[in-house]
Amino acid sequence: MRDKDHRWRTAWTFGGIVVIGAALVIAAAGTVLAIQQTQSLARLRIADLREEAQLLRNDIQGKAMTRLQRFLERVASNLRSSDSTKPFVYARPPEWISEVYHYDTDQPHFVLDRWRRGTGEEWAHSLLRLDPDALHADPATTAIVTHLLPPFLAAQLNPRHVAVQFIVDVLDDGPLVIAYMADSQTLRRQTIVAARLDLVQFMEHEVRAALSAGRIGVRLVLPAESSTLRRELPWHEDLSPIAPMLWLSPTAEFINGQHRVIWRQTIMFVVGTLLVMGALVAVMWAMWRVLQRELALSRMKQAFVADVSHELKTPLALIRLFGETLLSGRVPTEEKKREYYEIITRESNRLTNLINNILDFSRIDAGKKRYTFQPTKIAALVRETYEAYKAQLDHDGFEHQLIVAEGLPEIICDRDAVAQALINLINNAMKYHDDSDKFLGVDVAPETRRGRHGVLISVSDRGIGIRPEDRNRLFTDFYRANDERVRARRGAGLGLALVKHIVEGHDGIVDVESRLVKGSIFRVFLPVQPDSATPQPHFNNLADESDSTV
Ligand code: ADP
Repeated sequence: MRDKDHRWRTAWTFGGIVVIGAALVIAAAGTVLAIQQTQSLARLRIADLREEAQLLRNDIQGKAMTRLQRFLERVASNLRSSDSTKPFVYARPPEWISEVYHYDTDQPHFVLDRWRRGTGEEWAHSLLRLDPDALHADPATTAIVTHLLPPFLAAQLNPRHVAVQFIVDVLDDGPLVIAYMADSQTLRRQTIVAARLDLVQFMEHEVRAALSAGRIGVRLVLPAESSTLRRELPWHEDLSPIAPMLWLSPTAEFINGQHRVIWRQTIMFVVGTLLVMGALVAVMWAMWRVLQRELALSRMKQAFVADVSHELKTPLALIRLFGETLLSGRVPTEEKKREYYEIITRESNRLTNLINNILDFSRIDAGKKRYTFQPTKIAALVRETYEAYKAQLDHDGFEHQLIVAEGLPEIICDRDAVAQALINLINNAMKYHDDSDKFLGVDVAPETRRGRHGVLISVSDRGIGIRPEDRNRLFTDFYRANDERVRARRGAGLGLALVKHIVEGHDGIVDVESRLVKGSIFRVFLPVQPDSATPQPHFNNLADESDSTV
């Protein structure tokens, strides 16, 4: 039943670890997706803003083109109906037109009329003869003559193709030149009018007003900035055809704001995921430890079953063998008979001790072990236990000694349990002996630990000793040192676990001091009165004898 439980626990723990591992992977993938989602949302918001900028651009362009077209149409019709050399007056021309040019196709020579805007509605007229020198002197006329007029003049041959058309040229100093052709259908007096724009005025009157109308996130990029920003800007919308060098683009605040949102959310996701992952890893680690413990326990249990079977079989076989030999009457001498009786007694003691250990262990394991506390003369208890081993110690060639100090206090303890703990320690000292120096010492003395009075029972040997890495685990259930000298001796790994349980059941302390090959000392401290003890009445207490024995 317990094995089934154990298998279930192991399976559940393993399943739990796999599930948590999967959860970790999902959490990590989820975070990566969430971060990507945040980034694409921010990119979408920046892209959305572009649509707004396009609407704004269309708006600005639409208005500006309409005003420009109307103005140039008026100028053209004015020129057609009057003397082109006279200044013209036009009510409210766009503020951003600084110069107007006219090329008359009826003139035999290549001559441009130019009007410059004065203050207010005043325009000053000058006539430009288009000789090569004049061309170089004025970039605007150069542009008109070299870029803008040729296509119009060519189109005159087939005027149906040219009705109203703008051609824009960007000059070094910024302004633009727009050429306009009207009246092409009549094939009479073709009129080509060009206007030079003042970019500063254009921004002032057409762009700024539109931009300030509450469009947060869109800004105007000036030609000077545009070349340096070209790479950095996520997008730009230029104000073509009138002002292709002016750009609308998202403001730095808007982009930074989006970056901040990405960072904030990324940090939130990462920190959140790390916390969750940390918790999951902690749980997983704990489960892994449990699994390891369960597996180790299962391995130890398997070893235990093998060890116990061996432990039971060997003494039984010996008892049977020597019992039958004695019964057959074939034992020649009394001395031999005595030897056989001793073997039978020793093996039955061993068997009894093993069975006691197993029974106690199963009681402890099931939580059913109760101690019966009684006032006890500890010297007598130790002495009695020791005496029971004396004959065997002598027989096996051990040097041994018992030292019982004077003035030992009476101890409240479970006599059988303490005796059993001592038996286990003595058995171990004998079992793990070294052939070259067989020694066992038992020592009882008053002791104060952590401010509590009590007695210290020490069992020392000069045996094989214990490796430092094994020392902490000796008191674990089923634990046997992974040492061939240990494996060569019979054992089930229960003795020290029981000692620990008994000592702790008495609020005592057990520890070990050992050096490999030199030997070990196991010390058991028992307080005079365990915290949890309720003393039982006793009738048959052992007499205390405080002396030293060798
Ligand atoms: P076992 O049945 O194996 O003796 P115990 O619980 O009594 O089980 O002891 C656990 C392990 O502690 C032993 O297997 C051995 O490795 C080690 N050990 C115990 N007592 C001694 C000792 N006196 N000297 C050396 N090793 C010891």
